[in-house]
Amino acid sequence: MTPVVQAQGIHKRFGRLEVLKGIDFEVGQGEVACLIGPSGSGKSTLLRCINHLEKINAGRLYVNGQLVGYRERGGKLYELRDKEVAEQRRDIGMVFQRFNLFPHMTALENIIEAPVQVRGESKAQARERGRELLDRVGLGDKESAYPAQLSGGQQQRVAIARALAMRPKLMLFDEPTSALDPELVGDVLGVMRQLAADGMTMIVVTHEMQFAREVADKVVFMDDGVVVEQGVPEQVIANPQHERTRGFLSRVL
Ligand code: ADP
Ligand code: MG
Repeated sequence: MTPVVQAQGIHKRFGRLEVLKGIDFEVGQGEVACLIGPSGSGKSTLLRCINHLEKINAGRLYVNGQLVGYRERGGKLYELRDKEVAEQRRDIGMVFQRFNLFPHMTALENIIEAPVQVRGESKAQARERGRELLDRVGLGDKESAYPAQLSGGQQQRVAIARALAMRPKLMLFDEPTSALDPELVGDVLGVMRQLAADGMTMIVVTHEMQFAREVADKVVFMDDGVVVEQGVPEQVIANPQHERTRGFLSRVL
C-alpha cells in the first residue's frame, strides 16, 4: 500500500539557514508517528512542508502518493495551481500549539465553517456532523460556547473536532498540549489516543514521551535538521542508539 506520507531527502532553507538537511521518513496508512527533538531542530518546519505552508527546496515529498505542491512531467517539476494545492490540502488536518479558533464564533460555528464554505456541505448536514464531533471530543454540551468561555484544553479539543470536520486522511499535530495547564493535557491526549485507535493516520510533534511510548507506531528523533534515528518506541525511547537521542531523552524524561 502507498504510504500516506513519504519524505525522500527533503531540504528546506530559509535564506542561508538550512533547516531540513535531507529528511527521509514514511508514515503508513493508520500509523501514528511521533516527532521528537529539541527546539529548533526543524519539526514544525517539516509539518508545515507536509501541509503546504512551506515549500521544500530539494527532495521529494509525497502525501497519498501525490507530490506535494508539484506535478512531475518528463523528469521536470511544475508548480500546481492554487486550486490544485487547495485540493491536496483538504485531505490534511492540522492542530497547532495555539488553538486559533475564530473568537467571534461558537464551538459549533467554528467546526462547521470550513465544511460549509470549502466543502459545500449544507448547514444542516454540517451541524449534525459537528455535534457528533463535539460528542466525540467530550464537549457535547459546549456547542454554543465561545472560545473565551472554554478552557485551553476544551478549545484544543474543539480545534481537533474542527480539523476532523473536513474528513482528513492525515492529521498533523504540532505540540498540541504544550500551551496547556498540566491538568488539561490528559483530556486532549485522550482524544488523540481515541483518534489513533480509530485508525487515523497521524504525525504528532510532542514532548509527551508517555504518549509517544504508548500510542506511536514510530518515533522519529530529529536534531539540527536531520533524522538522527527512527523506529518503534521500544527502540528509540527505551533503547536509543545515538548519543544525541540519549542526551535529549535525559532532558525530557
Ligand atoms: P522546531 O519546531 O523543531 O522547534 P522549527 O521548524 O520551528 O523547529 O525551526 C527550525 C529552525 O528554522 C529554527 O532555527 C527556526 O528559527 C528557523 N525558522 C523556522 N521558520 C522560519 C522562517 N519562517 N524564517 C526563518 N527561519 C525560520
Ligand atoms: Mg516547533
